Amino acid sequence: MIQEADFIFYPEQLYNRDFAMKSIAQQLGCRESDISAYRIVRKSIDARKGVKFNVRLQVAMKGDVFPDLRGKFEFHDVSKSPLVTIIGAGPAGYFAALQCIMSGLKPVVFERGKSVDDRKFDISALNSQHILNPESNYAFGEGGAGTYSDGKLYTRSKKRGNVTEVLQLLHYFGADEDILVEAHPHIGTDRLHSIMRNIRNKILDCGGEVHFSSKLTGVKIVANNVTAVVINDTDEYPCENLILATGHSARDIYYMLNSNGVQLREKGFAMGVRVEHPQALIDSIQYKCKERGKYLPAASYALVKQVDGRGVYSFCMCPGGKIVSALTEDKTIVVNGMSNSKRNSPFANSGIVVELRPEDYASYSDNKIFSGLEFQKSLETLAYRNGGGDVVAPAQRLADFVSGKISAGLPKVSYEPGVISSPMHFWMPEFLSSRLREGFRQFDRQMHGFLTNEAVVVGVESRTSSPVQVVRDVESMRSVSVENLYPCGEGAGYAGGIVSSAVDGMEVVKRIVASQCIAM
Ligand SMILES: Cc1cc2nc3c(=O)[nH]c(=O)nc-3n(C[C@H](O)[C@H](O)[C@H](O)COP(=O)(O)OP(=O)(O)OC[C@H]3O[C@@H](n4cnc5c(N)ncnc54)[C@H](O)[C@@H]3O)c2cc1C
Repeated sequence: MIQEADFIFYPEQLYNRDFAMKSIAQQLGCRESDISAYRIVRKSIDARKGVKFNVRLQVAMKGDVFPDLRGKFEFHDVSKSPLVTIIGAGPAGYFAALQCIMSGLKPVVFERGKSVDDRKFDISALNSQHILNPESNYAFGEGGAGTYSDGKLYTRSKKRGNVTEVLQLLHYFGADEDILVEAHPHIGTDRLHSIMRNIRNKILDCGGEVHFSSKLTGVKIVANNVTAVVINDTDEYPCENLILATGHSARDIYYMLNSNGVQLREKGFAMGVRVEHPQALIDSIQYKCKERGKYLPAASYALVKQVDGRGVYSFCMCPGGKIVSALTEDKTIVVNGMSNSKRNSPFANSGIVVELRPEDYASYSDNKIFSGLEFQKSLETLAYRNGGGDVVAPAQRLADFVSGKISAGLPKVSYEPGVISSPMHFWMPEFLSSRLREGFRQFDRQMHGFLTNEAVVVGVESRTSSPVQVVRDVESMRSVSVENLYPCGEGAGYAGGIVSSAVDGMEVVKRIVASQCIAM
């Protein structure tokens, strides 16, 4: 019989097979020779009093076979099936396309950016020559914003079954089996490229279509139905069902939808800065040791405090990662963070952001739907004006930022295009800057040593989630204004992060199938 049991191991014990076997036999009351194999099915770190792993082990006795954690998927030939038009090849769009081919529908994906193979040259030009391609960058291109990310797969989404399915699909397309087990799974940018390429090849092999450098610029709406999409201003394609999975950086889409009478509404979001520490410092604070050694991963943190009625919290923390330039428009600065699978850079970065509500930025636009977008743009422009030209970002030592001092010099940072010392405490809007500074003071009380001049804040972290929501019916997941329009993912304002966006994309296709009684 297969049995499961929970254990607490010190790091070196977990990786010592003899020790683990003894512990298992003792806890299950059997002989070591009765055990044929064991495997970890849940693992998390508890660093409160000395670092320990909390693990759940599945144990097979002689003659037992472990249940398969991998998913089983059936992908159909959909070359002659009913069409579903999908805009955007990010997690929401690509997982919607996968759900289409599992449901007997033909996905036709239009993506404004380039394939992962071509996109990397634009990313490289951005980092080394400071040249932005507004259609191919860290936000736009195959895999969307999720490709150049930390690839954290943790989500608070309640749709557990679907979350497991997304993880199993990611594993099917090339992610390590660990992601099916870890409490906080992550993939890393270096692995995400091939996973996205594999997803694309599956879509094509099954008879679906993926078109790159194909930007949705308009829609034809007749009697509350999208009848055609306009690509690159000139090409018109007929459309039966339209899935809009354009992410939160495609600002032009919101204005286009608004001018076509699609109902939108403003939504709260968060903005702030990215903070970067030496990874060794975060390790020493979190693990309370000088060096983390070979058994422990680069330490992370998750911080949240209330300051003057608003949450101030860490966002998308990237242990062993680097800060990247996530802008999509010239003369702006936007930063975010990513890491590779090994998380082995000497830096730890995280967004530190302040929760914003529509009343905080109401004055930024006459049309309240767009006031958040306009505020976002104004902060990104302000960062550009206070930066070093092109994509050279403004930065300040953390303790200087908090005490309102100009930094005479800056330590080395991971942000490739470079940083310039700038009095960020001074030029950031007061309601952001004052809350951030108090937030950092409070973080230091929880993580002693966090507030230090060894750390740097880099501006600005402005694209945490969409400030606009495309209003959709809860049950059918359709736009309330247009019957065959299915807004989904982060851009529609219903998801945040890779997994929840992928879940949302898959859910939308299931609703299309249900509404039209298409056989699965
Ligand atoms: C640097 C960075 C690191 C991140 N790290 C993580 C992480 O570790 N874990 C996590 O869960 N989340 C992370 N995120 C967030 C995550 O990437 C997003 O939540 C997720 O990608 C959203 O998925 P999406 O499909 O809704 O939108 P997106 O990923 O934004 O994809 C939208 C796609 O639509 C395309 N598009 C836009 N407009 C058009 C148009 N008009 N015509 C055609 N195509 C269009 C875009 O080019 C893009 O490819 C990170 C984001 C960034 C920028």
